[in-house]
Amino acid sequence: GREVKPEPTLVEIVPGLVVGGEEFVVMAGPCSVECESQILETARAVKAAGARLLRGGAFKPRTSPYAFQGLEEEGLKLLALAREETGLPVVTEVVNPRDVELVARYADVMQVGARNVQNFALLKMLGQLDKPILLKRGMSTTIQEYLMSAEYILAEGNRRVILCERGIRTFETATRNTLDIAAVPVLKNQTHLPVIVDPSHATGHAHLVPPMCYAAAAAGADGLIVEVHPHPEDAASDGPQSLRPEDFRQMMTRLAAFTDAA
Ligand code: PEP
Ligand code: MN
Repeated sequence: GREVKPEPTLVEIVPGLVVGGEEFVVMAGPCSVECESQILETARAVKAAGARLLRGGAFKPRTSPYAFQGLEEEGLKLLALAREETGLPVVTEVVNPRDVELVARYADVMQVGARNVQNFALLKMLGQLDKPILLKRGMSTTIQEYLMSAEYILAEGNRRVILCERGIRTFETATRNTLDIAAVPVLKNQTHLPVIVDPSHATGHAHLVPPMCYAAAAAGADGLIVEVHPHPEDAASDGPQSLRPEDFRQMMTRLAAFTDAA
């Protein structure tokens, strides 16, 4: 059309770290923060491999109310400790509007999970924060609905929104979700916002994560968010899709071929 495409939005996380610009930014860490040694060991390993942010859930939106729900504020404190030690900024999920203020005291990036993509009360609150927001696509939201969710945050004045394709529900059962890789160029085309990919929740299987990391980079994503756990077999959540630190390191090495080519 004749529309002039706006300049891409560069989302600054901390001085010197921008998502949506030249750098392909990888966020990594465990699904859930479990204890001090687990988060510190993971943070050191992902940093050494080239990750630029530490992920970790302190509030976990679990399918079953009987599953581990996260360490809550204790988990946030452990994330802050890991940040202090490694210098990695922290991305963590806020599940409930009543916890926005608490999570914002600790997080560098506030994550909205797939299940909350249309929690408009939460989105509006996050729109009033002066903090970057990582907004995951819902498992059953169309691109159009997803963009309207982003708009809820933007309309309140917060321009620092990062989009994240994390797989959608289809008839396929071989993977946990179906990674909609075409969503990356579609979103890049339709918005000025940075787009990252979560191959962990998209596939549900650790061995499928590296190939989807490469696919994301080749498709033009601005970065990744990847689950890494020192002992996936003991993980409190999402162990089967978590990379071991050594597998993450290898993936990061091979990833360079795709990010440099892009
Ligand atoms: C997560 O990042 O651990 C998570 C719960 O992801 P999603 O909201 O995409 O399911
Ligand atoms: Mn998870």
